Amino acid sequence: MGPLQCGRPAFDVLGMRISWTAPEVATPRVIARTAGLLTALGGLAAVVLVLGSPGGLAAVHPGVVAIAPVTMGLGVAIMRWGDRVPRGFFHALIASGLVGIGLFALIAPTIDGAVAVLALTAFASMNSFLFFAPVWAAGYLVELLVIGAVVVVLRGDVAIGPAVVLGILVLGVAGVVGVLARRAASASEDALTGLMNRRGFDEALDVAVRTAVRTGEPLSAALVDLDHFKMVNDTRGHAAGDEMLRAVARTWTPLLPPGAVLARHGGDEFSLLLPGLDGGQALASVEQLRAALPGIGTSVGVAELESGDSAAQLMRRADSALYRVKSLGRGRSELDAGGYSPLARDLVAALAGGPGSGLAVHFQPVVTLADGEVAGVEALVRWTHPDRGPVPPGEFVAIAEQEGLIGALGAFVWAVACRDARSLCEATGRELFLTVNVSGLELDDADFPERVLAVLAETGWPAERTVVEVTESLVEAESTRSVRALHALREHGLQVAIDDFGTGYSALSRLDTLPTDYLKLDNSFVSTITTSSRRARLLRSVMALADALDLTLIAEGVETGEQARTLTALGCPMAQGYLFGRPQPVDELVASLTALPAAAGL
Ligand code: C2E
Ligand code: MG
Ligand code: MG
Repeated sequence: MGPLQCGRPAFDVLGMRISWTAPEVATPRVIARTAGLLTALGGLAAVVLVLGSPGGLAAVHPGVVAIAPVTMGLGVAIMRWGDRVPRGFFHALIASGLVGIGLFALIAPTIDGAVAVLALTAFASMNSFLFFAPVWAAGYLVELLVIGAVVVVLRGDVAIGPAVVLGILVLGVAGVVGVLARRAASASEDALTGLMNRRGFDEALDVAVRTAVRTGEPLSAALVDLDHFKMVNDTRGHAAGDEMLRAVARTWTPLLPPGAVLARHGGDEFSLLLPGLDGGQALASVEQLRAALPGIGTSVGVAELESGDSAAQLMRRADSALYRVKSLGRGRSELDAGGYSPLARDLVAALAGGPGSGLAVHFQPVVTLADGEVAGVEALVRWTHPDRGPVPPGEFVAIAEQEGLIGALGAFVWAVACRDARSLCEATGRELFLTVNVSGLELDDADFPERVLAVLAETGWPAERTVVEVTESLVEAESTRSVRALHALREHGLQVAIDDFGTGYSALSRLDTLPTDYLKLDNSFVSTITTSSRRARLLRSVMALADALDLTLIAEGVETGEQARTLTALGCPMAQGYLFGRPQPVDELVASLTALPAAAGL
């Protein structure tokens, strides 16, 4: 039986939460150690009583002489192996232990001996309040008082005074242990859902991992995230959010497999411990749970304990599976295949680490060629790997795409870019536009437009000054969902740029049908315009094309004054490149824009 099932009905007595379940502190280990220790001490007390008996061994009942050391031995055995026996064993131990104590008290040769033996019932009462639900504990308390009363009446030599004092002592011990056990439990309980909280879960996880390592049984864990929970909270209020969390707890608790532990990990995250299930079985079980919540979308990462795994590693792998699910569109469960490449694993850590974890967004100025004035900035992601140093974005963006992390990376870039662009504009008093690079996979995620709009709303960055940069390869892929996403964003006032134009195979007809506002001419094309007259003529026709399609041309990778002059002469309106400014952190850009109000490289 799992010691740690929560979420059942509970009621409050004098501000204390009384539930029908055993205290959460009563893990198999705690039960075994405590019951074993108290049983052994009971045996030891009996041995001492026997040895100290006034008439010597001969005066003591042979049964007592035999049973005292046996009880000690039993106690030691329970301490050692008791965590492997079912909970029923401990019920039997306490029920029969009380009867045994009663019998010994009855046959004790002296009154003092009888009272001393009866005092051992304090152990039984402590145990029952520590191990069992209050109803059971109260039952054992009644058994104990009845046995005590019977002993006192049958012996007839025990004075009422000491017997009553003993009874009060035992009741007091039971009460204190009961309150402490419940208090300890409430520290690991989530008040909103009645489930275990993260602390309780971590304790249960440690026990489960140790058990799994010892028994060789499989163990899986899952992390659950409610989809769009923040939106529910924001649009329908916190009461609706709270109700949603309670609904998950209510629906799932009765459906859990035996021994499973469901906990609220914090916020809208739940965690699930699935002892006895391997990864595949855990995934199936999670799918059943997800299906039982038709109105609530959930994303779940599942991992199975592998040999050598610590509890923390198991949860980290469940977390990275959840990460994948979230970055690839949510509403699914996925089993961690242990399969990130080393660099992707480091990227996951950087993404999870927040500021200071090596990921950053730099900004490169985009200028109007006619006057050299900065008109906008392009957000470019940067990653400084803890060992390798700076990793080129071309490399880690590709890894993020291949290993399912692009959604998370994109979310990071969008949030930082919009926030920093806003402070850049506020600090410099300029109305700049912001361009953000978006990967095709990211754009293909059904939630993409909503997520971008949510970031704009959160950061207060205007949609009208936001440009989404997509590459030609995406244009070639021509996924209808991507195109729909671009249309949706444009309806909300955002603009679209085709990046790296002139590198790949450009399908002109697609340029006509795609919702586009800017064409960004690739570095490699720009670098040749001053060395090849054919390229210069080609540029002129690209200009004409842009004009015909009502697109604004931005020349990228402008490094020399000559390139800038050629582009200006041909009528290219905008440019970007080292000549005007390198990609740099926002505070450096603020400083340079404030120092040089109209920085121009011409
Ligand atoms: P891109 O969007 O075409 O970005 C322009 C690249 O040219 C940047 O490289 C920039 O640093 C570099 N550049 C700018 N001016 C000059 C110049 O004058 N000369 C030369 N040689 N290069 C110049 P970076 O930052 O290494 O980015 C490479 C590519 O990685 C980007 O190309 C973009 O496709 C991708 N990328 C960067 N940030 C992100 C991001 O946040 N999300 C996504 N999905 N992709 C990104
Ligand atoms: Mg770009
Ligand atoms: Mg480009």
